[in-house]
Amino acid sequence: MKNNEKPSICSICKGKCCQSASGYTIPTDFQEETTLHFLISLLESGNWSIDWLEGDPRYSIRDGEPKLNRCYALRVARVNDTGVFTKSFGGACVLWSLEKGCSLPFENRPIECRFLKPIRSMSCKSNGKYSKEYCAKRWIPYQDMLIEAGHRIEKSRTHSPS
Ligand code: SF4
Ligand code: SF4
Repeated sequence: MKNNEKPSICSICKGKCCQSASGYTIPTDFQEETTLHFLISLLESGNWSIDWLEGDPRYSIRDGEPKLNRCYALRVARVNDTGVFTKSFGGACVLWSLEKGCSLPFENRPIECRFLKPIRSMSCKSNGKYSKEYCAKRWIPYQDMLIEAGHRIEKSRTHSPS
């Protein structure tokens, strides 16, 4: 998509969006194929966390039994994340700094970030379509891979000397 950054607006606001949350991704945000190896390399960097929705976002109660108890999704880590698997309730994005803003080039940012439209009144609009639920649904084919990658990183952190 076209770059929609508006430095003239965001430099005044100083990153309220990135100071209070971080973006959810979908697998196609990355140029690499979604493999276990690739997910492990992302999580190893410490810049990514696995979050989740309770239940199965594909089904409402009316549709019958959900098939997933949880639906995991990858998002950028937040400074107050407590581990690889962290259900977040806000917190600054680890890729943001007051001096430089977002450290990712626009085209490499999570879909949720790319579609946030800066507005001068600071009432910036997220594109409702690219919600956490939308992103979590795109990770459904990779649930086992996300869980395995997350567990491997947790294990390696437990065993590494502090
Ligand atoms: S997108 Fe909106 S909330 Fe985020 S830095 Fe720009 S003006 Fe502030
Ligand atoms: S990835 Fe970049 S744009 Fe998205 S929340 Fe983090 S700092 Fe902000």
